[in-house]
Order: sequence, then structure tokens, then C-alpha cells
Amino acid sequence: MLLEQPRCTICDKEIKEDEDVFVKIRYPKQKGFTEIKAYLRNEGKFICEDCIESKSN
Ligand SMILES: [Zn+2]
Repeated sequence: MLLEQPRCTICDKEIKEDEDVFVKIRYPKQKGFTEIKAYLRNEGKFICEDCIESKSN
């Protein structure tokens, strides 16, 4: 279980488990992607499906 639920950066809604989300992320400079979850939590900007849909319309 995550300690902290990620939130959508646009509407601040909590991202639920199993929900489809979009993550805006900078590709890490370091080689390897072993700490992907930690990296996502630190660097990722989560965007929920609702916001992606309203943005593209
Ligand atoms: Zn949202």
C-alpha cells in the first residue's frame, strides 16, 4: 500500500488504485529504472482521466 495517495495535479482528485492515469515525467538521467515507483512518486505529475479528456476537447 502506498503511504500517500497520488493526486491529480490539475483537479487535486485522489488517484485510486487501478484507475487509468497519465503521468508526466522527465526521463531520468541515471541509467536504469530500478526505483521506478520512488521516482514516480518524487518526480511524476499525475493527471486523471477526466482532466485529460476535458483538455483534449
Ligand atoms: Zn484531474
